[in-house]
Amino acid sequence: MAVQPKQNLSMDSAAETGFINFFFSLPEKSDTALRIFDRNDYYTVHGKDAILAAKEVFKTNAVIKNLGSGSKKLESVVLSKMNFESFVRDLLLIRQYRVEVYRSKTGGKGSNDWQVAYKASPGNLAQFEEILFGGSGPGESAAGVVGVRLGTGSDGQRVVGVGYVDSTLKKLGICEFPDNDQFSNLEALLVQIGPKECLLPSGDTGGDVGKLRQVLQRGAVLLSDRKKAEFSTKDVVQDLNRLLRARKGDTVSSATLPEMEKQIATSSLAAVIKFLDLLSDEGNFNSFQMTTFDLNLYMRLDNAAVKALNLFPVSDPSTGIHSLSGLLNKCRTPQGQRLVNQWIKQPLMDKSKIEERLNLVESFVDDSELRQSCQEDLLRRFPDLNRLAKKFQRQSATLHDCYRVFQAVGHLPNLILALERYGGTHQVLLNEVFISPLRDLISDFTKFQEMIETTLDMGQIEHHEFLLKPSFDPTLTELRETMDSLEKSMQSVLSSAARELGLDAGKTVKLESNAQIGYYFRVTCKEEKSLRNNKKFTTLDVQKNGVRFTNSKLSSMNEEYTKSKQAYEEAQTAIVKEIIGIASGYVDPLQMLSDVIAQLDAVVSFALVSHAAPVPYVRPRICEKGSGRLVLKGSRHPLVEAQDDVAFIPNDVTFSREEEMFHIITGPNMGGKSTYIRQVGVIVLMAQMGCFVPCDDAEVSIVDCVLARVGAGDSQIKGVSTFMAEMLETAAILRSATADSLIIIDELGRGTSTYDGFGLAWAISEYIATHLKSFCLFATHFHELTALAQQAPTVRNLHVTALTTDSTMTMLYKVKKGVCDQSFGIHVAELANFPQHVIASAREKALELEEFQDYSQSGENSGTGGPEAKRRFLDKQEGEKIIASFLAKVKALPVNGMSDSDIKLELHKLKSDVLSQKNEFVSEVVSHLVTVKMDTV
Ligand code: ATP
Repeated sequence: MAVQPKQNLSMDSAAETGFINFFFSLPEKSDTALRIFDRNDYYTVHGKDAILAAKEVFKTNAVIKNLGSGSKKLESVVLSKMNFESFVRDLLLIRQYRVEVYRSKTGGKGSNDWQVAYKASPGNLAQFEEILFGGSGPGESAAGVVGVRLGTGSDGQRVVGVGYVDSTLKKLGICEFPDNDQFSNLEALLVQIGPKECLLPSGDTGGDVGKLRQVLQRGAVLLSDRKKAEFSTKDVVQDLNRLLRARKGDTVSSATLPEMEKQIATSSLAAVIKFLDLLSDEGNFNSFQMTTFDLNLYMRLDNAAVKALNLFPVSDPSTGIHSLSGLLNKCRTPQGQRLVNQWIKQPLMDKSKIEERLNLVESFVDDSELRQSCQEDLLRRFPDLNRLAKKFQRQSATLHDCYRVFQAVGHLPNLILALERYGGTHQVLLNEVFISPLRDLISDFTKFQEMIETTLDMGQIEHHEFLLKPSFDPTLTELRETMDSLEKSMQSVLSSAARELGLDAGKTVKLESNAQIGYYFRVTCKEEKSLRNNKKFTTLDVQKNGVRFTNSKLSSMNEEYTKSKQAYEEAQTAIVKEIIGIASGYVDPLQMLSDVIAQLDAVVSFALVSHAAPVPYVRPRICEKGSGRLVLKGSRHPLVEAQDDVAFIPNDVTFSREEEMFHIITGPNMGGKSTYIRQVGVIVLMAQMGCFVPCDDAEVSIVDCVLARVGAGDSQIKGVSTFMAEMLETAAILRSATADSLIIIDELGRGTSTYDGFGLAWAISEYIATHLKSFCLFATHFHELTALAQQAPTVRNLHVTALTTDSTMTMLYKVKKGVCDQSFGIHVAELANFPQHVIASAREKALELEEFQDYSQSGENSGTGGPEAKRRFLDKQEGEKIIASFLAKVKALPVNGMSDSDIKLELHKLKSDVLSQKNEFVSEVVSHLVTVKMDTV
């Protein structure tokens, strides 16, 4: 619980009434936008915002005080500066709310002249940057906000135009593409650039926009409606001419840029430029570059895949499984951490680029000494150069920041030396990517280093003071002399204080200083008793490392010293300004240095993880897209394997075009089906990111996307039509898949009216196996689905194994070929203490089915199964036809225009129609489905 602030919201009654009236006159706002009032040394929030603050910050309503009374009662909560900062951080970064801070010229005392002083939303944090990140921490993704607008292409097709601004890399990005009715391309783009906020033209409604909003919400992006006028491209040419950097020798205006042809995307970009108010800051002029984002450059991922593959941490990690980002991100610098997260969202598609990254990783896997010295020693010396570059650009850097850069550049020779010592096969590449750019950077910074060396007073830096050398200016020299002599005198005050207290100067009592209180004495807590009852000394504070105190002499000298120091700082302002001005010319090399260090850090991190895994990862062999092979030997799930209490059982995976492309995995609950299918997704992704993979041997064809469908556990409580709609949506989304996509389906159709679920699962599988021909893994409880292997030649059955006795079941987690041969669900039910009669009846049904399968198999295989078997076999063939026709009819239902009850009615009719045909096979399947449904409990 946060400490409650000492301040009270004190106003006289006129001011109070005035404020209440003013507050209630403010325009209405949503609950996700907070208004905070800055009252100089503290902040206040009111109304619903106060209730939220009380709950979130203080965890108690006791902090809520009421202003006014009756209908004009206004709940109020006071926030200290610290409360305010942590609250704002929580609102913007975690909850994704908007924040407006109001200020009044008179502090709200006289008239109510409150105005919005600054505001932020998750996508636009510029004005809160210092509060949120305070110069440390990895910070957020660069493209915080995107504009999205729908349009129609020349061929009448739906076109999506996206514009975004990457303020870190100084890029204006646009992307325009046709999309399907599920907006699969847009979803993939949003995963790749990971914005926090999305601007949409307000007033646009209709079917398409509704769907669009759903897609955006699925990606946890905050939607902000903006006026349509903000999407106007009227001023965009003029704005871009200001923002864009002139290309060398280029006098062409941005109106002729090829990007401008993408009208819909450009209008989205115009909205983002206005939203971020880029033109209000001259620092932005001539500093941006325009890029077109190529959707096909990276593997496409949908949000479901991001979740299913645990790419990023979730707020509720109840699964105990960590995220891939957590596993792979062992970077030592914030820029490295940001880059790894970007690489996870943007797995590569170009074989040469993947091989290049793998080569880099391999260099550091092979050379342990180099890897260790980078990881443990060299890299952690680099600060967040990216953020420093931004400060340089805004000219808001301090001498301390300049010194940070000076230090970082000073570390480069050692880093180069370490890299040069590498003697492996990728020497040329290391040279190209790291050594030679770093050498160039050292020479780019030569003048900067000289400037800092000659201007900064290095002697004072050990006291954490960043000042100019006194020799720069006679006033500075004079002030320094005063300060030095004061320091000397303070030393003698220390000696006499030590004598007085019977302590040892410099040992048991020390003279120290810090930025807040200046000079003070300190004794350890042990010596504190010698201070007691000594009126000559005043205790300043008591901390873990001792008691800080002072006496009258020291405090007056300290005062004088502080004054001189302030005078020193004032006297140096003009020169410092000049230095900062010169330093701001180093934004480009600084950004470049940041990029090189980030890349080195990310590659070293991959190497470290690959080497340190419980069983070291191997380098995957990458095949061109379209090669149709995905063969993993002894593959493991990197996150499950990393859990402390798991002895992971490796499994093989084989995909081969035209031979085996669709694997159906059945087996007992908790048997490892999900883990198996997801590990394939994770491994392919890691390979395309250029990382080693958790396998004994891996051959990976480049895939263009990983799509995942994971049956929602709560589908029981959803209506049938929701379920149908979901399934049809699945089918539609899958339509965006190609033969080079990897599709992972888990538990589709579980928990709903089983027969319908099965029908759709079958239809979707058949479509993937025979039309799309993608790489597909399907984990299911529908044992009937295994029959698909008999119809489609590339479908294979796999099952996870378990050992059962009458009362126990041991999971073996070994994935084997063929269909699972026992009804494990019953054992699980038994182990979970299900009532005996339920288990008994389930066992009976399962037995019937096993017998039935035996008959039908013997009939199929030998044709000599006797007349009974033959009859059953024929019955089965006919039954399958009945089911197929049922499925076709279900598929053809126009569910979009139907209500829940209409759908139920139609399904009921279709089902009765099927059952009225009195086919024994069909009845058996239906009765078995009862068992299956039981299995899934
Ligand atoms: P359900 O059908 O209930 O969804 P499932 O068959 O999909 O279950 P998983 O969720 O994949 O089963 O696995 C259950 C647990 O078994 C995992 O949390 C993990 O701890 C363990 N497990 C899975 N695969 C393996 C393996 N190959 N080696 C060791 N432990 C494993």
